[in-house]
Amino acid sequence: MVEKNFQAHFMELPRKVVVGENILSNAGKFCKSLGSFSRMLVVSGPRTWTVAGRIVYDSLVDVGFNVEYLTVGMNIDEAVKLVEAKISEFNPNIVFAVGGGRVIDIAKYASFRRGIPFISVPTSASHDGIASPQASLKSVGNIVSVKTHAPIAIIADVNVILNSPYKLTASGCGDIIAKFTAVRDWMLAHNIKNEYYGDYAANLALMSAKLVAKNVELIRENSVEGLRVVVEALISCGVAMSIAGSSRPCSGSEHLFSHALDILTKNRALHGEQCGVGTIMMAYLHRINWRKIRSILRKIGSPVTAEELNIEPEIVVKALTLAHKINPQRYTILGENGLTEEAAKNLAKNTGVI
Ligand code: ZN
Repeated sequence: MVEKNFQAHFMELPRKVVVGENILSNAGKFCKSLGSFSRMLVVSGPRTWTVAGRIVYDSLVDVGFNVEYLTVGMNIDEAVKLVEAKISEFNPNIVFAVGGGRVIDIAKYASFRRGIPFISVPTSASHDGIASPQASLKSVGNIVSVKTHAPIAIIADVNVILNSPYKLTASGCGDIIAKFTAVRDWMLAHNIKNEYYGDYAANLALMSAKLVAKNVELIRENSVEGLRVVVEALISCGVAMSIAGSSRPCSGSEHLFSHALDILTKNRALHGEQCGVGTIMMAYLHRINWRKIRSILRKIGSPVTAEELNIEPEIVVKALTLAHKINPQRYTILGENGLTEEAAKNLAKNTGVI
């Protein structure tokens, strides 16, 4: 029993993190300080290329690196193949992932498969994948979240992120608030299933959620200061996952609910928005202050009801009954048998979600 808790534990952390204003044009100098890299591939989306990718590319060329770029489309499977093919052909020693969550997940996964490091350059603050070793790739072999590698560095330009729709930042806050229940689920799994539990990682994730809760007004103003809180909290969540060696501190029953919604409806809302609503309901089950969580999300401007998610109440109920089956190894407050339809309906009604 004791041995189980003392297995070798592998942590991979970013070496350098820079959060600031108008810093993308210094990407080249920053990269020089990281080590002896010479060939770089910049991956971005069509829009993020114009707002950020090109600036990073120019800055890398300016300091004399051999750089190529690639813009990827919406289809994740195709995009991953495209990036891998480009890596084989150009043979870079580092990949820059410049974009929102999707582009970062694609570049993270492709660079991991090809065994080269990547640098994360987020253009929005919509979820904690910007700094984590996890990649959400729903269409790759039906895997919801794959463990890959953490970025070796993160360059987060708050001015660029401020220009993304506020809805994305609010969604990022939902993903951070989710740590209130994720950490509870983790502790529960430790107590009931003797699963490894790391106090440091758990508290790091929890601290991010508390900081967002403390700074709601600042965040709602969409100010540089508010955004800095969100970006730093998202990065800390990513680091918490790196320290834990899994997504445990950041993803519990509220994430299972969100993944169930992803399966049940094409009309899905943003990841963090769904997780936020899930957190309200799972907090109710955990008997923690769900009203406070709802009030924080409301103040931030993130959805708190099925209607605000634009998802049918029946789908929400169905997702609640299905959530425990999404990842059976992840023990949560939903238990092994999940919720009955009646219990799910009551839960959604009692918390005002439907
Ligand atoms: Zn998440």
